[in-house]
Amino acid sequence: MRLLSYLNRTFNGFPSSSKLLLVFSLSGGGLLAYSESQSNSPANSVEHEGLANKKKVVALGTGWASTSFLKDLDISSYDVQVVSPRNYFAFTPLLPSVTCGTVEARSIVEPIRNIIKKKNGEILFWEAECTKIDAANKKVFCRSVIESNLVGKKEFSLDYDYLVVATGAEVNTFNTPGVMEYCHFLKEVEDAQKIRRSVIDCFEKAILPELTEEERRINLHFVIVGGGPTGVEFAAELHDFVHEDLVKLYPMVKNLVRITVIQSGDHILNTYDSRISTFAEQKFARDGIDVHTGCRVLSVSDKEVNMKIKSTGENVSMPHGMVVWSTGVSTRPVIKDFMDQIGQGKRKVLATDEWLRVKGCENVYAIGDCATIDQRKIMEDIGAIFNAADKDKSGILTVEEFNDIIDDILIRYPQVELHLQNKHLSSVTQLLNDPEGNARKEIDIKVFKSALSQADSQMKSLPATAQVAAQQGTYLSSCFDKRDVAKITPEGPRRFKGTGRHYFLPFRYKHFGQFAPLGGEQAAAELPGDWVSVGRSTQWLWYSVYASKQVSWRTRVLVVSDWTRRSIFGRDSSRI
Ligand code: FAD
Ligand code: MG
Repeated sequence: MRLLSYLNRTFNGFPSSSKLLLVFSLSGGGLLAYSESQSNSPANSVEHEGLANKKKVVALGTGWASTSFLKDLDISSYDVQVVSPRNYFAFTPLLPSVTCGTVEARSIVEPIRNIIKKKNGEILFWEAECTKIDAANKKVFCRSVIESNLVGKKEFSLDYDYLVVATGAEVNTFNTPGVMEYCHFLKEVEDAQKIRRSVIDCFEKAILPELTEEERRINLHFVIVGGGPTGVEFAAELHDFVHEDLVKLYPMVKNLVRITVIQSGDHILNTYDSRISTFAEQKFARDGIDVHTGCRVLSVSDKEVNMKIKSTGENVSMPHGMVVWSTGVSTRPVIKDFMDQIGQGKRKVLATDEWLRVKGCENVYAIGDCATIDQRKIMEDIGAIFNAADKDKSGILTVEEFNDIIDDILIRYPQVELHLQNKHLSSVTQLLNDPEGNARKEIDIKVFKSALSQADSQMKSLPATAQVAAQQGTYLSSCFDKRDVAKITPEGPRRFKGTGRHYFLPFRYKHFGQFAPLGGEQAAAELPGDWVSVGRSTQWLWYSVYASKQVSWRTRVLVVSDWTRRSIFGRDSSRI
């Protein structure tokens, strides 16, 4: 953290040093990728054994969660099969850059078969979608998504001992009429490619002869619904594309282009630090991007977006040339169906415990955007915790008895630590102080309960981000790799409601910060430790981080060369 703040200070003073960091990051990342490719190169040398004593693992999906699970999994003890309708991994944080040709689509994808090559065996990949999970019979039903004249059956089923569900989520239209039919989405690589073509269509149509100025204006009105990171980043990319490249090619309509962001909340980027959302709003105001906050879209047609202004209750229609809908995600139908089977039908998102095990069934794990961790409330277990701590069964906890279980409490219930931070307390024992602030030597169950009663209010669910998905994948593969060892020497906290210890530590998310590129070589970043950085230097940090985070040396080179190409020749406006 200190290093980051030092780097930022250095950047502000010396912009050239930020370029140095880029070089460092690239070369550091490059080395990593090189060593990865070295270690994986003799892949496929071992035949797929399909040993009867190997446990069968089926993973659904080839996104962030699944690939990070597969990358580190030791497959010497598992027979692994992967099912996904997409035979590649996509680096989604760069999707907005694909919409305007800053980066090419193929530069941000890596074939899944490259990623799952292993030196100690083979992972099988099937390009198909899972249509049903049958948890009772430990089976998944799949169907090929290849639409063609190719012969052969499309359906098949796979048996599993362990299932890893990582199917991500789908776009959320909130059942708004017309959204499916008339809006673009920005979720998959194909969506970004479609948007790129449509933007060019809008310009080509707008300059045709015989159109009135009003018609040209409407065709060049780009509306983005959703002021979250994806919508904001797309608006910024589009603004750059228009003002850096397209105005030179379509000078006759350059004053008619309008970009509008519609946001239901009071601010754009409202999940970020308020300093960032203010910076973004000011930047957009300077750039002439219209931001309509406090508006709810009621319907979309091929010509208009209809919305309600929350403060006045007024309904307004906004003619558009193109709409991009980016308002969040919801659960896929196959997961909904699975949730109905396992008694989670009333929930909105598939729930797991802190070990990423799906609640209500055996040997099924869910990671990434398709699931949420249902954090255990400490108040549900408070009696059991007290009893476990009260070794001499005196009905009273001494400070020693309490100290003995503190670590297990902090590991099992991370909300306690947040509660301490919130109260600016340095240790859990301070929670037990009497109202005058004096330390108590012993406590009864009543004091114990009241000391921890507010901790559960600190629980919050994790965001649907690549960062969370990737960390969950890595965590889960490490649990799979340690399964046998952990049974003998468990590493987790004690079981307050049972005996012994949990085999593994529960999953803990580490937030490394988040970026918001805002166009014009300016970005905002929220970094750990309440540290915010905005401006041109942050954009250089963004370049270096995103280049180093690429999954392979190949995509890293492609992305960096796309950025270089763009800065020399501009973006390509061909409609292909
Ligand atoms: P995904 O990556 O969506 O992968 C899901 C996989 O499951 C896919 O391979 C899909 O084909 C497959 N699948 C779908 N249905 C089935 C089925 N029925 N059977 C089998 N397989 C199936 N996050 C960040 O942290 N930082 C960012 O900067 C960022 N920027 C983003 C920008 C955009 C434009 C978007 C769309 C997202 C961004 N995100 C970002 C969020 C991030 O992409 C997601 O949180 C992340 O992809 C979730 O990973 P996942 O593995 O759960 O799902
Ligand atoms: Mg006691």
